[in-house]
Amino acid sequence: MKTYLDFASTTPMASEVIEKMHAVMSEASYGNPSSLDHQFGLSANKIIEESRESVASLINANPDEILWTSGATESNNMAIVGFHQFQYKGQSMRFLSSHLEHKSVIESMHSIKDLGSNVCFIQPNEHGRIDIETFVNQMEEDVIYVSCMHVNNETGLTNDIEEIGKYCRKNEIIFHVDAAQSIGKIPIDVKDMCIDLMSMSAHKVYGPKGVGALYINKDTVGRIKSIILGGGQERGMRSGTLPTHQIAGMAKAYDLSKERMDDDYKHIKQCRDNFIKTISNIDGWKLNGTDKDAYPGIISICFPDLYSESLIYAMEDFAISRGSACSSDHDEPSHVLKSMGLLDHEINGTIRISFGRNTTLNEAESAAFELIKAVSHLRNLKGGN
Ligand code: PMP
Repeated sequence: MKTYLDFASTTPMASEVIEKMHAVMSEASYGNPSSLDHQFGLSANKIIEESRESVASLINANPDEILWTSGATESNNMAIVGFHQFQYKGQSMRFLSSHLEHKSVIESMHSIKDLGSNVCFIQPNEHGRIDIETFVNQMEEDVIYVSCMHVNNETGLTNDIEEIGKYCRKNEIIFHVDAAQSIGKIPIDVKDMCIDLMSMSAHKVYGPKGVGALYINKDTVGRIKSIILGGGQERGMRSGTLPTHQIAGMAKAYDLSKERMDDDYKHIKQCRDNFIKTISNIDGWKLNGTDKDAYPGIISICFPDLYSESLIYAMEDFAISRGSACSSDHDEPSHVLKSMGLLDHEINGTIRISFGRNTTLNEAESAAFELIKAVSHLRNLKGGN
């Protein structure tokens, strides 16, 4: 069995989460959480509302500002398309985002562009981060909405959300944050960071797949238009019967991450430091991004003279990836690395290693040794050609 080092694409569920979901599925809470005429529905509804409190408390929001979704992809679609459809009243509006974003943000932006809005994407710096000066310089007077991710899923680079948020609040610009990779891993306070909309997922933080949430600031945004039409659940903003066990699992995962955030971070940082120290003797590699400002769980490294596929194949005891799992179905070079100025052969020689709560220091070190072996083996093969 390979050692799993692909925590940025998804995480295994924590055993406490599995136990919680199992208990919810086995108890008499299988009623429809909207059927409030009997105890089965009431009991499911109670679980949903308690879970809403857990998610809200992790980010210093009010429970009625949390909307359940199927994951961060849907939350990003709702935050952009749902906001646009609710607020757009014919005037020309400009939305600003960046080339670093996940495809679910980029595609949502393209879809509102098709509906007549102006959309522009700013370039990150060479480290894959949004410079506040570039951001402010690109700001046109008619920008009413900014969408910027917190932690990048390919490089781990972390944007200064609080600085961008404060600028947006001061200039009455709505600020959306894709927090799929940061929630539960680094502290987020939606009030201090001046966030208006924020997308969250459960499966990146030891919760189940297929569930997430959107934070909607009730003072600055209030409502969005539902993009999923039907029975009017979630105060008419997201129809569909709520999956009680998934939501309870997400809440448990968030409660655990609140308890463990500091310890997890320190441990993961130690894994990263050991890994990088061990591979530092290899020639001709570079870190995509910088150590400074990076979430330590994600490492993107480039071997310009090698192919990532060969490296992944050669590291046979480890499950690592080329980059983002979401775009690896399409064989296009990563738009994130491209926007950072990497050349095609550098992108083709990039691998992503991501650590999690379950990674041991020993595994991180063994991965580094295996990488050293793989690089030397592949270079010998090339030399022999
Ligand atoms: N945004 C980012 C930054 C992500 O990393 C991901 C998952 N790769 C998503 C959004 C989509 O999340 P989900 O899988 O919950 O739809």
